[in-house]
Amino acid sequence: MKIDWLIIGAGFTGSVLAERIASQLGQKVLLVEQRHHIAGNCYDYYNEQGILVHQYGPHIFHTNAQYVWDYLAQFTPWRSYYHQVLGSLDGKLVPIPFNLNSLYALFPPRYAEQLAQKLIETYGFNVKVPILKIRESAKSQDLEFLANYIYEKVFHGYTLKQWDLKPEELNASVTARVPIYISRDDRYFQDKFQGLPQYGYTNLFRSLLNNHNIKMLLNTRYQEVIEEIQYNKLIFTGPIDEFFEHMYGNLPYRSLDFKFIHTEQEQHQPVGTINYPNEYTYTRTTEFKHLTGQRTYGSTYIEEYPQPYRHGENIPYYPIPKEEYRALSQKYQKEAEKLQGRVLFAGRLADYQYYNMDQAVARALNLFEKEILSSP
Ligand code: FAD
Ligand code: UDP
Repeated sequence: MKIDWLIIGAGFTGSVLAERIASQLGQKVLLVEQRHHIAGNCYDYYNEQGILVHQYGPHIFHTNAQYVWDYLAQFTPWRSYYHQVLGSLDGKLVPIPFNLNSLYALFPPRYAEQLAQKLIETYGFNVKVPILKIRESAKSQDLEFLANYIYEKVFHGYTLKQWDLKPEELNASVTARVPIYISRDDRYFQDKFQGLPQYGYTNLFRSLLNNHNIKMLLNTRYQEVIEEIQYNKLIFTGPIDEFFEHMYGNLPYRSLDFKFIHTEQEQHQPVGTINYPNEYTYTRTTEFKHLTGQRTYGSTYIEEYPQPYRHGENIPYYPIPKEEYRALSQKYQKEAEKLQGRVLFAGRLADYQYYNMDQAVARALNLFEKEILSSP
């Protein structure tokens, strides 16, 4: 078998690159995927009860990059959806990211007013401030109290569960993903474009890969077939340390166990996701019907139980944003550079970067434009 491009991994990174190469260059691609399905961690399917669920955890698409949104819109109509999250704090369900509404829900009105005033005076209105920054900069007694309260009740327990680390032990960008929002906007994201593919992610991927220049090999680890395939260039979207046979040691990842629960109730919870920073061993529950807008009897929700990653036993979902691991991942990036463009690496696992879906798509589109389209 002779092909132009061998691509490992059928997630967003590998599939977008396959689509670009096949449609823009008219070259032949073989996409090799170890799982029985396409779509990587975005894979969704209808469960026994007929509910559309996300097998590897809830996925909400959001981006400020119009070109990413427009590119994917060629392959799916979008369902508009604004994600909402409530956190269980002190026996109450309050908006997350923590905002002025959370403040009023938790504290007596006069005190909430006082704290809100202090926040607005210090940082401004409609401003997002990461918790670690508020903790550092809080000068007044009120703000210090509030910073410590939010740190303890929202971030400390959740982050310990999710990463087995304290917020300050991780790169500050991790907790900055969910900053304190000095506003009354209860949406989890404020991006310009937000939604889900109207007929699901797997369907979007089917459409992406529906090209006569793309062939697929599912249920196959690339190591099983690479010797038998004649290809010109290789793109790898799996874990970069695996590609180099762990020559500098294992890169650490965080994994998750998922528990799906079906209920005969019409609705299990009031919004898409409830976070439990301080209770239970799971971090959050997400009810799929909120995300997908599906109207059926019964409902399915998912609990997420963070786990250490055990090589070969569970799935490396999250690279761990921490300086020492970044340094280790750079050693692998240096090895990648030595291959001088014959092998390209991209994606959440190959770049060892905590990408959202839109960032993975942007990375693939940019790699295609800058390194594939322009190379001989
Ligand atoms: P992946 O989707 O991981 O694809 C890599 C593929 O390579 C996998 O299918 C894997 O099986 C395959 N592979 C690996 N090794 C081999 C091998 N040896 N041989 C063959 N195949 C191999 N992003 C958002 O924007 N919004 C969200 O709401 C969101 N929620 C998330 C929730 C969870 C629980 C997780 C874990 C992630 C979430 N993300 C979300 C991030 C999103 O999943 C990623 O950005 C995206 O999946 C990255 O795509 P990728 O192609 O780089 O990686
Ligand atoms: N986080 C937290 N409490 C929350 C929500 C988030 O401590 O209620 C922290 C936690 O460290 C988490 C990070 O912020 O891992 C990023 O949250 P996000 O919801 O973006 O995580 P993801 O959806 O990627 O798992």
